[in-house]
Amino acid sequence: MVPRPPQPGQKIACYNPAMSQSPPPAFSFSRLAGAALGAMCGDALGMPVEGWSAARIEQAHGRLDAMLPGRLPAGSYTDDSQMMIAILQTLAQHGGLDPAYLAGRFLALYEPRRGYGGRIDALMSRLAAGEPWDRVATDSWGNGGAMRVGVLGVFFADDEDACLDAALTQCRITHTHPRGLAGAAAQALAVRLAANLGAAGRKPEPTEFVERIAAKIEPIDQHVAQRLRAMPLLPFGDEAEARSALSWAYACDVSAAEAVPPALGAFLAAQQPEQAVVLAVSLGGDADTIGAMAGALAGAYWGLEALPAPWLAALENQSMGRDAVLALCRKICDENC
Ligand SMILES: [Mg+2]
Repeated sequence: MVPRPPQPGQKIACYNPAMSQSPPPAFSFSRLAGAALGAMCGDALGMPVEGWSAARIEQAHGRLDAMLPGRLPAGSYTDDSQMMIAILQTLAQHGGLDPAYLAGRFLALYEPRRGYGGRIDALMSRLAAGEPWDRVATDSWGNGGAMRVGVLGVFFADDEDACLDAALTQCRITHTHPRGLAGAAAQALAVRLAANLGAAGRKPEPTEFVERIAAKIEPIDQHVAQRLRAMPLLPFGDEAEARSALSWAYACDVSAAEAVPPALGAFLAAQQPEQAVVLAVSLGGDADTIGAMAGALAGAYWGLEALPAPWLAALENQSMGRDAVLALCRKICDENC
């Protein structure tokens, strides 16, 4: 079939390699769905070992590379993915980030059994009572703004300033401390860079990658920038060496400053997405969140097709599970790619 030329004002929905000499765009279904499902895979893989030390995980499970039951059934996602789904719903509805709508989606999807941070329950009550989205946050330096933000890095892949602005805005609904904001910015900008490098077929150069993100977030918070720059020298010899180096360098806890850098380190150390996520979860601590962030980076870089099929098959798939997330990503791309 001979494709019809685009009409004036018509948006070209999809990249067709047969019709283009330019490189494929970084914002594509594969990379958006890769970031979303990559995050869900990391979240679900880390769920049963959240709060464990790296040593305890290794002792109990060896190389943890299969989804196990924990406080939720095997393959279940937690608060990280539930809040990311709210962001996807907002992009699907508005073609951009509307913070008032997003706050409403956070509230509509909220299920305490997913394991939200301690301050979120009170915050949701205030949203439910009708308080506006920009009045309910606490001065938190936690990683909650970063854990859910990766998909925005793909959505705004061609506009760094818009990516940064959206990352900060969505964070301010729940976290207003500069460290929380800087962590969210760092994760979104890192996913954006990963999507662009993946689309260009280029390997990330670790030192350059880390410095680019650190320099961009330094005006928001110097401490988070400094913790990024504390990244152990890469590449590592193997997974055990990488785990040991990242565990030594970072506390891998619920703070943005100690959770975002190891997730980025796990991505930069990995040869493929499975390794990035397994390595991130193996660090222990806030394992589901660090796994989710590494999974978003890996999925944005390598694309949906590179995520392990057994993980995708094991992911929770009820009303707002794997297939619903794929449908949201499809809708967002059809209307905005
Ligand atoms: Mg969680």
